[in-house]
Amino acid sequence: MKRRVLATLAFAALAAPLAQAQAPQAVTVYSSRIEQLIKPLFDRYTAETGVKINLLTDRGGSISERLAAEGAGTPADVLLTVDMGNLWSAAERGLLRKIDSPTLNNNVPANFRDPGNQWWGLSRRERTIFFNPSKLKAEWLSSYEDLADPKWKGKLCLRTGKQTYTQSLVAMLIAKHGEPKTEQIVRGWVSNLATDVFTNDSSLLQAIAAGQCEVGIANTYYYGRLVSSNPDIKSKVHLFWANQGANDGGAHVNLSGGGVTRHAKNPAGAQKLLEWLSSEAAQNGYTHGTFESPVNPKVEPDAIIKGWGTNFKPSPLNAADIGSKQAAAIRLLDRAGYR
Ligand code: FE
Repeated sequence: MKRRVLATLAFAALAAPLAQAQAPQAVTVYSSRIEQLIKPLFDRYTAETGVKINLLTDRGGSISERLAAEGAGTPADVLLTVDMGNLWSAAERGLLRKIDSPTLNNNVPANFRDPGNQWWGLSRRERTIFFNPSKLKAEWLSSYEDLADPKWKGKLCLRTGKQTYTQSLVAMLIAKHGEPKTEQIVRGWVSNLATDVFTNDSSLLQAIAAGQCEVGIANTYYYGRLVSSNPDIKSKVHLFWANQGANDGGAHVNLSGGGVTRHAKNPAGAQKLLEWLSSEAAQNGYTHGTFESPVNPKVEPDAIIKGWGTNFKPSPLNAADIGSKQAAAIRLLDRAGYR
Protein backbone atom coordinates (compact mmCIF):
# COMPACT_ATOMS: atom_id res chain seq x y z
CA MET A 1 0.00 0.00 0.00
CA LYS A 2 2.68 2.41 1.13
CA ARG A 3 4.77 1.49 -1.87
CA ARG A 4 1.85 2.21 -4.20
CA VAL A 5 1.31 5.68 -2.73
CA LEU A 6 4.98 6.42 -3.10
CA ALA A 7 4.91 5.21 -6.68
CA THR A 8 1.89 7.41 -7.41
CA LEU A 9 3.60 10.42 -5.85
CA ALA A 10 6.75 9.74 -7.81
CA PHE A 11 4.69 9.51 -11.01
CA ALA A 12 2.89 12.76 -10.20
CA ALA A 13 6.19 14.51 -9.54
CA LEU A 14 7.48 13.35 -12.91
CA ALA A 15 4.25 14.02 -14.77
CA ALA A 16 3.75 17.61 -13.60
CA PRO A 17 6.78 19.14 -15.29
CA LEU A 18 6.17 16.90 -18.29
CA ALA A 19 2.60 18.22 -18.66
CA GLN A 20 3.87 21.76 -18.21
CA ALA A 21 6.46 21.30 -20.92
CA GLN A 22 3.83 19.85 -23.25
CA ALA A 23 1.12 22.50 -22.65
CA PRO A 24 1.62 24.78 -25.67
CA GLN A 25 2.43 28.37 -24.84
CA ALA A 26 -0.38 30.83 -25.61
CA VAL A 27 0.00 33.39 -28.40
CA THR A 28 -1.06 36.99 -27.86
CA VAL A 29 -2.38 38.75 -30.96
CA TYR A 30 -2.89 42.50 -31.39
CA SER A 31 -5.34 42.90 -34.25
CA SER A 32 -7.03 45.73 -36.08
CA ARG A 33 -9.30 43.13 -37.62
CA ILE A 34 -12.49 43.15 -35.59
CA GLU A 35 -13.03 40.40 -33.05
CA GLN A 36 -16.17 38.91 -34.62
CA LEU A 37 -14.28 38.30 -37.90
CA ILE A 38 -11.13 36.78 -36.47
CA LYS A 39 -12.29 35.06 -33.27
CA PRO A 40 -14.02 32.04 -34.89
CA LEU A 41 -10.85 31.31 -36.85
CA PHE A 42 -8.70 31.54 -33.72
CA ASP A 43 -11.13 29.23 -31.89
CA ARG A 44 -10.58 26.71 -34.66
CA TYR A 45 -6.81 27.05 -34.28
CA THR A 46 -7.08 26.46 -30.52
CA ALA A 47 -9.29 23.40 -31.09
CA GLU A 48 -6.79 21.96 -33.59
CA THR A 49 -3.54 22.76 -31.79
CA GLY A 50 -4.38 23.34 -28.13
CA VAL A 51 -2.71 26.76 -28.39
CA LYS A 52 -4.72 29.41 -26.57
CA ILE A 53 -4.89 32.81 -28.28
CA ASN A 54 -5.20 36.03 -26.33
CA LEU A 55 -6.76 38.59 -28.65
CA LEU A 56 -6.76 42.35 -28.33
CA THR A 57 -8.43 44.37 -31.08
CA ASP A 58 -8.32 48.09 -31.89
CA ARG A 59 -8.08 50.28 -35.00
CA GLY A 60 -5.03 49.92 -37.29
CA GLY A 61 -3.18 53.07 -36.19
CA SER A 62 -4.09 52.72 -32.51
CA ILE A 63 -3.00 49.10 -32.23
CA SER A 64 0.46 49.94 -33.63
CA GLU A 65 0.70 52.93 -31.27
CA ARG A 66 -0.09 50.68 -28.34
CA LEU A 67 2.54 48.18 -29.42
CA ALA A 68 5.11 50.97 -29.79
CA ALA A 69 4.25 52.49 -26.40
CA GLU A 70 4.56 49.14 -24.61
CA GLY A 71 8.04 48.57 -26.01
CA ALA A 72 9.87 45.52 -24.67
CA GLY A 73 7.13 44.97 -22.08
CA THR A 74 4.41 44.24 -24.65
CA PRO A 75 2.56 40.95 -24.29
CA ALA A 76 1.94 40.92 -28.07
CA ASP A 77 3.49 38.14 -30.15
CA VAL A 78 1.67 38.89 -33.42
CA LEU A 79 0.52 42.16 -35.00
CA LEU A 80 -2.32 41.90 -37.50
CA THR A 81 -3.27 45.10 -39.30
CA VAL A 82 -4.74 46.43 -42.52
CA ASP A 83 -3.16 48.48 -45.28
CA MET A 84 0.32 48.34 -46.77
CA GLY A 85 1.12 51.73 -45.26
CA ASN A 86 0.46 50.42 -41.73
CA LEU A 87 2.39 47.20 -42.36
CA TRP A 88 5.34 49.03 -43.85
CA SER A 89 5.48 51.60 -41.06
CA ALA A 90 5.24 48.91 -38.34
CA ALA A 91 8.41 47.36 -39.78
CA GLU A 92 10.05 50.76 -40.30
CA ARG A 93 9.40 51.68 -36.64
CA GLY A 94 11.03 48.47 -35.42
CA LEU A 95 7.80 46.92 -34.10
CA LEU A 96 8.29 43.67 -36.00
CA ARG A 97 11.06 41.09 -36.29
CA LYS A 98 12.56 39.38 -39.29
CA ILE A 99 11.58 35.73 -39.48
CA ASP A 100 12.69 33.06 -41.87
CA SER A 101 9.62 31.09 -42.97
CA PRO A 102 9.65 29.15 -46.23
CA THR A 103 5.97 28.32 -45.53
CA LEU A 104 4.92 31.98 -45.47
CA ASN A 105 7.09 32.79 -48.47
CA ASN A 106 5.51 29.93 -50.39
CA ASN A 107 1.94 30.78 -49.46
CA VAL A 108 2.19 34.54 -50.07
CA PRO A 109 3.23 35.81 -53.53
CA ALA A 110 6.36 37.98 -53.50
CA ASN A 111 4.64 41.30 -54.29
CA PHE A 112 2.25 40.84 -51.34
CA ARG A 113 4.90 40.55 -48.63
CA ASP A 114 7.84 42.45 -47.19
CA PRO A 115 11.10 41.68 -49.05
CA GLY A 116 12.77 42.08 -45.63
CA ASN A 117 10.68 39.17 -44.21
CA GLN A 118 9.00 41.17 -41.44
CA TRP A 119 5.37 41.03 -42.66
CA TRP A 120 3.13 39.06 -45.00
CA GLY A 121 -0.20 39.89 -46.61
CA LEU A 122 -2.99 37.55 -45.47
CA SER A 123 -5.86 38.90 -47.58
CA ARG A 124 -6.07 40.97 -50.75
CA ARG A 125 -8.20 44.07 -50.90
CA GLU A 126 -8.57 45.25 -54.47
CA ARG A 127 -9.33 48.94 -54.99
CA THR A 128 -10.79 49.53 -58.41
CA ILE A 129 -13.28 51.51 -60.50
CA PHE A 130 -17.09 51.24 -60.16
CA PHE A 131 -19.62 52.88 -62.46
CA ASN A 132 -23.33 53.35 -63.09
CA PRO A 133 -24.17 51.38 -66.27
CA SER A 134 -27.18 53.58 -67.05
CA LYS A 135 -24.82 56.58 -67.30
CA LEU A 136 -21.83 55.18 -69.14
CA LYS A 137 -20.34 52.19 -70.90
CA ALA A 138 -17.46 50.09 -69.59
CA GLU A 139 -15.61 50.75 -72.86
CA TRP A 140 -15.30 54.41 -71.92
CA LEU A 141 -13.27 53.54 -68.84
CA SER A 142 -9.61 52.57 -68.65
CA SER A 143 -7.49 53.59 -65.68
CA TYR A 144 -7.20 55.52 -62.41
CA GLU A 145 -5.07 58.02 -64.34
CA ASP A 146 -7.76 58.51 -66.99
CA LEU A 147 -10.26 59.60 -64.30
CA ALA A 148 -8.22 62.83 -64.12
CA ASP A 149 -9.21 63.67 -67.71
CA PRO A 150 -11.58 66.67 -68.01
CA LYS A 151 -14.10 64.43 -69.81
CA TRP A 152 -15.09 63.17 -66.32
CA LYS A 153 -15.78 66.66 -64.94
CA GLY A 154 -18.65 66.61 -62.46
CA LYS A 155 -18.97 62.82 -62.72
CA LEU A 156 -16.43 61.39 -60.28
CA CYS A 157 -16.96 60.26 -56.66
CA LEU A 158 -13.99 59.70 -54.36
CA ARG A 159 -13.37 58.81 -50.75
CA THR A 160 -11.66 61.30 -48.46
CA GLY A 161 -7.88 61.75 -48.70
CA LYS A 162 -7.70 61.51 -44.90
CA GLN A 163 -8.32 57.79 -45.20
CA THR A 164 -5.57 55.24 -45.57
CA TYR A 165 -7.03 53.46 -48.66
CA THR A 166 -6.93 56.70 -50.67
CA GLN A 167 -3.43 57.36 -49.38
CA SER A 168 -2.24 53.88 -50.42
CA LEU A 169 -3.74 54.24 -53.89
CA VAL A 170 -1.90 57.54 -54.33
CA ALA A 171 1.25 55.95 -52.85
CA MET A 172 0.96 53.29 -55.57
CA LEU A 173 0.74 56.02 -58.23
CA ILE A 174 3.82 57.72 -56.75
CA ALA A 175 5.71 54.40 -56.83
CA LYS A 176 4.69 54.07 -60.46
CA HIS A 177 4.94 57.62 -61.86
CA GLY A 178 6.85 59.75 -59.32
CA GLU A 179 5.38 62.72 -57.47
CA PRO A 180 5.03 65.42 -60.17
CA LYS A 181 2.92 63.26 -62.50
CA THR A 182 0.90 61.83 -59.60
CA GLU A 183 0.14 65.35 -58.38
CA GLN A 184 -1.25 66.23 -61.82
CA ILE A 185 -3.47 63.13 -61.69
CA VAL A 186 -4.73 63.91 -58.20
CA ARG A 187 -5.44 67.55 -59.14
CA GLY A 188 -7.39 66.26 -62.14
CA TRP A 189 -9.47 63.97 -59.89
CA VAL A 190 -10.25 66.83 -57.52
CA SER A 191 -11.44 69.06 -60.36
CA ASN A 192 -13.67 66.23 -61.67
CA LEU A 193 -15.52 65.60 -58.38
CA ALA A 194 -19.30 65.37 -58.64
CA THR A 195 -19.76 66.07 -54.94
CA ASP A 196 -17.82 66.31 -51.65
CA VAL A 197 -15.51 63.40 -50.90
CA PHE A 198 -17.11 60.48 -49.03
CA THR A 199 -16.17 59.27 -45.56
CA ASN A 200 -16.63 55.62 -46.56
CA ASP A 201 -16.76 53.35 -49.61
CA SER A 202 -20.29 52.04 -48.98
CA SER A 203 -21.93 55.46 -49.24
CA LEU A 204 -19.79 56.19 -52.30
CA LEU A 205 -21.06 53.03 -54.03
CA GLN A 206 -24.63 53.93 -53.08
CA ALA A 207 -24.13 57.40 -54.59
CA ILE A 208 -23.09 55.71 -57.85
CA ALA A 209 -26.20 53.50 -57.68
CA ALA A 210 -28.36 56.58 -57.12
CA GLY A 211 -26.78 58.38 -60.09
CA GLN A 212 -25.29 61.14 -57.93
CA CYS A 213 -22.04 60.34 -59.67
CA GLU A 214 -21.26 58.17 -62.66
CA VAL A 215 -17.95 56.67 -61.65
CA GLY A 216 -15.81 56.23 -58.55
CA ILE A 217 -13.10 54.20 -56.83
CA ALA A 218 -13.74 51.74 -53.98
CA ASN A 219 -12.55 48.49 -52.42
CA THR A 220 -14.25 45.46 -53.91
CA TYR A 221 -15.20 43.99 -50.52
CA TYR A 222 -17.56 46.91 -49.83
CA TYR A 223 -19.25 46.05 -53.12
CA GLY A 224 -19.36 42.42 -51.94
CA ARG A 225 -21.11 43.44 -48.72
CA LEU A 226 -23.69 45.49 -50.65
CA VAL A 227 -24.28 42.69 -53.15
CA SER A 228 -24.72 40.11 -50.39
CA SER A 229 -27.33 42.20 -48.58
CA ASN A 230 -29.01 43.61 -51.71
CA PRO A 231 -28.30 41.73 -54.98
CA ASP A 232 -30.26 44.41 -56.94
CA ILE A 233 -27.29 46.73 -56.60
CA LYS A 234 -25.53 44.66 -59.28
CA SER A 235 -27.75 46.24 -61.95
CA LYS A 236 -26.98 49.77 -60.71
CA VAL A 237 -23.27 49.55 -59.98
CA HIS A 238 -20.80 47.64 -62.12
CA LEU A 239 -17.22 46.76 -61.30
CA PHE A 240 -14.50 47.69 -63.78
CA TRP A 241 -10.98 46.31 -63.37
CA ALA A 242 -8.73 49.36 -63.63
CA ASN A 243 -5.52 49.56 -65.63
CA GLN A 244 -5.81 46.32 -67.60
CA GLY A 245 -4.27 47.74 -70.79
CA ALA A 246 -0.86 46.36 -71.84
CA ASN A 247 1.05 49.33 -70.41
CA ASP A 248 -1.39 50.40 -67.69
CA GLY A 249 0.30 48.60 -64.79
CA GLY A 250 -2.62 46.58 -63.36
CA ALA A 251 -5.24 47.18 -60.66
CA HIS A 252 -4.26 48.32 -57.18
CA VAL A 253 -4.31 45.57 -54.56
CA ASN A 254 -4.07 46.53 -50.91
CA LEU A 255 -3.59 44.03 -48.07
CA SER A 256 -4.40 43.02 -44.58
CA GLY A 257 -1.52 41.17 -43.05
CA GLY A 258 0.74 40.66 -40.11
CA GLY A 259 4.09 39.87 -38.61
CA VAL A 260 5.80 38.65 -35.45
CA THR A 261 6.46 41.46 -32.98
CA ARG A 262 10.03 42.47 -32.14
CA HIS A 263 9.51 41.73 -28.43
CA ALA A 264 7.41 38.57 -28.83
CA LYS A 265 7.64 36.25 -25.81
CA ASN A 266 6.50 33.33 -27.99
CA PRO A 267 7.99 34.01 -31.44
CA ALA A 268 7.82 30.34 -32.48
CA GLY A 269 4.11 30.16 -31.62
CA ALA A 270 3.55 33.49 -33.39
CA GLN A 271 5.25 32.24 -36.55
CA LYS A 272 3.22 29.01 -36.52
CA LEU A 273 -0.01 30.98 -36.23
CA LEU A 274 0.89 33.26 -39.16
CA GLU A 275 1.88 30.23 -41.23
CA TRP A 276 -1.48 28.64 -40.47
CA LEU A 277 -3.37 31.84 -41.38
CA SER A 278 -1.68 31.84 -44.79
CA SER A 279 -2.42 28.13 -45.37
CA GLU A 280 -5.09 26.61 -47.57
CA ALA A 281 -6.83 25.39 -44.40
CA ALA A 282 -7.32 28.88 -42.97
CA GLN A 283 -7.48 31.27 -45.93
CA ASN A 284 -11.16 30.58 -46.59
CA GLY A 285 -12.04 31.35 -42.99
CA TYR A 286 -9.85 34.46 -43.05
CA THR A 287 -11.41 35.99 -46.17
CA HIS A 288 -14.86 34.60 -46.83
CA GLY A 289 -16.89 36.54 -44.29
CA THR A 290 -15.27 39.76 -45.45
CA PHE A 291 -15.41 39.41 -49.27
CA GLU A 292 -11.68 40.00 -49.44
CA SER A 293 -9.65 37.72 -51.71
CA PRO A 294 -7.33 35.02 -50.40
CA VAL A 295 -3.68 35.99 -50.69
CA ASN A 296 -2.74 32.33 -51.15
CA PRO A 297 -3.26 31.70 -54.89
CA LYS A 298 -4.23 28.06 -54.25
CA VAL A 299 -7.40 29.13 -52.43
CA GLU A 300 -10.66 29.85 -54.27
CA PRO A 301 -12.39 33.13 -53.46
CA ASP A 302 -15.97 33.43 -52.18
CA ALA A 303 -18.83 32.83 -54.67
CA ILE A 304 -19.85 36.50 -54.54
CA ILE A 305 -16.33 37.52 -55.57
CA LYS A 306 -16.35 34.99 -58.38
CA GLY A 307 -19.62 36.63 -59.50
CA TRP A 308 -17.79 39.75 -60.61
CA GLY A 309 -14.79 37.86 -61.94
CA THR A 310 -11.30 37.45 -60.60
CA ASN A 311 -9.52 37.24 -63.91
CA PHE A 312 -7.70 40.56 -63.86
CA LYS A 313 -4.13 41.78 -63.81
CA PRO A 314 -3.04 43.11 -60.41
CA SER A 315 -0.32 45.73 -60.09
CA PRO A 316 3.02 43.94 -59.80
CA LEU A 317 4.48 46.70 -57.62
CA ASN A 318 5.76 45.43 -54.28
CA ALA A 319 3.63 46.20 -51.24
CA ALA A 320 6.63 47.59 -49.33
CA ASP A 321 7.51 49.95 -52.20
CA ILE A 322 3.96 51.29 -52.06
CA GLY A 323 3.87 51.40 -48.23
CA SER A 324 7.07 53.44 -48.17
CA LYS A 325 5.39 56.18 -50.25
CA GLN A 326 2.49 56.64 -47.82
CA ALA A 327 3.90 59.74 -46.08
CA ALA A 328 4.66 61.38 -49.44
CA ALA A 329 1.11 60.53 -50.57
CA ILE A 330 -0.41 62.28 -47.54
CA ARG A 331 1.61 65.45 -48.25
CA LEU A 332 0.75 65.28 -51.96
CA LEU A 333 -3.01 64.90 -51.28
CA ASP A 334 -2.84 67.96 -49.07
CA ARG A 335 -0.91 70.02 -51.67
CA ALA A 336 -3.36 69.02 -54.41
CA GLY A 337 -6.37 70.14 -52.35
CA TYR A 338 -7.80 66.64 -52.04
CA ARG A 339 -9.69 66.76 -48.74
FE1 FE B 1 -12.30 48.78 -45.06
